[in-house]
Amino acid sequence: MTLTLHCAGRTDVGRKRDYNEDDFVIDLDTGLMTLADGMGGHAAGEVASRLAVGTVTEFIRRSAGGSGNDWPYGFDERLSLSANRLRAAVRLANEKIFRTIEENEELRGMGTTLVAALGRNGSVCVAHVGDSRAYSARADRLEQVTSDHSWVNEQVLLGLLTREEASRHPFRNVITRALGSREEIVPDIAEIAMSPGDRLVLCSDGLTTMLDDGQILEILRRHPRDDEAAASELIARANAAGGEDNITVIVAGFSA
Ligand code: CA
Repeated sequence: MTLTLHCAGRTDVGRKRDYNEDDFVIDLDTGLMTLADGMGGHAAGEVASRLAVGTVTEFIRRSAGGSGNDWPYGFDERLSLSANRLRAAVRLANEKIFRTIEENEELRGMGTTLVAALGRNGSVCVAHVGDSRAYSARADRLEQVTSDHSWVNEQVLLGLLTREEASRHPFRNVITRALGSREEIVPDIAEIAMSPGDRLVLCSDGLTTMLDDGQILEILRRHPRDDEAAASELIARANAAGGEDNITVIVAGFSA
């Protein structure tokens, strides 16, 4: 049985910011879903997130032929083909942003998070850098697939802060891994299996700082077959809760 990917994405400036530094791309031909949350101030943040999702999309399209492609960083036999494609795509995006900063003094300090998922026939490969997240929702459970590259999450993993303390900490916006910050950046990779009815959510922190896991799960369950309605309501609810940052959401699933 072949499972077909379906998904929808939305981005919104929120209620407190004057411009949207988030960006996203959905490419159903390749099964790619990716979003980025740029930083560095107006223009710079927009440039970084656009370069990130654009470069990732371009490489994923280019490498659709399989393992016979040119691999700019070599092919790692221990990883799946999807993982190799995503890893190379993200490393290329980082290099592109890093070089762009080197050539444009006014863009110094720009960077971006990125989360990208490649879905095909019930299997999803997720790559991420920074604090944009992927969640999987199955039955009554929302599970975070990614682990934030943020200072507060590092303290949580070390047992020095609770999740609750982290969510209110003054350093909660400090990202420890971002595209454009160093010459060489490698994403974390996760692979998950999904059945019909399971959902995948990719989002920027403008969603997760406004809504908790229970609220996200409740909204997904209200729209079990409608990704667009789920994405729209997630954004509307994040805005209703304050909309303090740009909000980007991609909701996806597989149907038989
Ligand atoms: Ca953000």
